[in-house]
Amino acid sequence: MKNWTLAELQELYHSPLLELVFKAASVHREHHNPREVQISTLLSIKTGGCPEDCGYCPQAARYHTGVEKNDLMTVEQVETAAKRAKALGSSRLCMGAAWRNVKDNEEFDHVIDLVKTVNKLDMEVCATLGMLSEHQAKRLADAGLYAYNHNLDTSEEYYKEIISTRGYEDRLKTLDNVRKVDLTVCSGGIIGMGENVDDRLKMLLTLSRLDPQPDSVPINALVAVDGTPMENQEPVSIWEMIRMVAVTRIAMPSSVVRLSAGRTNMSVEGQALCFMAGAGSIFAGAKLLTTPNPDVFQDLEMFDLLGLTPTEPFAKHEQPKIKEETQVSNGEVEKWSRPGHKIEANIAYTKKGQELRRQEKVEEK
Ligand code: SF4
Repeated sequence: MKNWTLAELQELYHSPLLELVFKAASVHREHHNPREVQISTLLSIKTGGCPEDCGYCPQAARYHTGVEKNDLMTVEQVETAAKRAKALGSSRLCMGAAWRNVKDNEEFDHVIDLVKTVNKLDMEVCATLGMLSEHQAKRLADAGLYAYNHNLDTSEEYYKEIISTRGYEDRLKTLDNVRKVDLTVCSGGIIGMGENVDDRLKMLLTLSRLDPQPDSVPINALVAVDGTPMENQEPVSIWEMIRMVAVTRIAMPSSVVRLSAGRTNMSVEGQALCFMAGAGSIFAGAKLLTTPNPDVFQDLEMFDLLGLTPTEPFAKHEQPKIKEETQVSNGEVEKWSRPGHKIEANIAYTKKGQELRRQEKVEEK
């Protein structure tokens, strides 16, 4: 595994675009089948009401974004959604819950059942549930989870500008807990949150230095949602996305680079260049958690046009076997940090959210 430096990533990122794409495409062909792109489905199994203050997220309870809070989906609902996703070409289902961290309670027991249900459909099961202890990661692995997603989002420095309710070290600790139980790691970030190019590259540097490198690296373009502190951010250009995909591909040759949120702003031509530069997966479905996403039939047309085939499940690792659970909780409670810093925009939008909710209550009466 190459130990990249920031200077090397900067040199790659700023190299002439077509040279960068050519280099990335060459690396991609050495490690992956360039005709295959995995279709994944991201399903929000528990939406909204999150106590965190992530400045980009419409599910944070403190902002007024119109996202309705929903309880955990039932086994039947998830099974139906997974079967539909599979019938439309998805080989991976990622279940997301808007939690700060996983708690050893009935809700987590229910998620364990959901993981087993989707595993039995012969799909790669991924989950994104917030911070996670090693013991909880083990339970998920025993239930047949294939991957755990926990994004670093951005550089350690810029992280302090977007989230004040947890620290970067918590992210890394969760990834470490996931790795200890042999789950595959899915971790990437979001571009377009006001960070600079070096923040993006520092995030890639941190990910590339994980040993082993993450199996999966989602690259999201911010979808600026009304009511969040980032509602006025300008969309990133497709050229920035292509450069980011290409550098990710070169820095982490075996990882699956996932073209994630923000595809509604991308043309087919732009996405084609991202595939050329090494993107090996898209998320399908009309919604990505709560934000809009291209329709799956449009995506299938794009696959036809570009001569791409959806990747079969378990192309890289065997399907995890569901194991008998021997112990439900070991009583250990992982300690997560509460950094003391303040973020002005998050505070302002929290106050705005409180005021709007107050007005709504008055109008209801
Ligand atoms: S990104 Fe996740 S942790 Fe942050 S507010 Fe949204 S749901 Fe909560």
